[in-house]
Amino acid sequence: MEEQCEDRGVIETIRCIVCPTGCEIEVKEMPDGEVTFEGYTCNRGLEYAKQEFFAPKRVLTTTIRVRNGLLPLIPVRVDKPILKEKLDEAFQEIALTEVDAPIKMGDILIEHVAGENCNIIASRDLPKVED
Ligand code: SF4
Repeated sequence: MEEQCEDRGVIETIRCIVCPTGCEIEVKEMPDGEVTFEGYTCNRGLEYAKQEFFAPKRVLTTTIRVRNGLLPLIPVRVDKPILKEKLDEAFQEIALTEVDAPIKMGDILIEHVAGENCNIIASRDLPKVED
């Protein structure tokens, strides 16, 4: 007997990372084009899967060059997750940026990076080098 393909219509499988349960959520496209989500156990998972499917975001971490700092680079991150499709643009903007020491943890070093509603902030203090 021929086995029925249960995966028909599944266009992506997303592992929910909102809690340690790690539900697998299947994204399916119905014949009429409607997209549905199956396998989540709670609404937080459904919201996560929708976000991840339609407009995935990521936490960007990297470093920025520093003038007159005790170190030449400072670790930075976004203050809110940024759209995955904007990561390249954000990295380019960061690569062209140089900031002046002293810097305090949490200082905004680039506002609205890549034109998004998030900022690049310092992940640590960085004192100015003494002359
Ligand atoms: S769907 Fe709900 S229960 Fe499942 S991993 Fe996500 S948050 Fe946890």
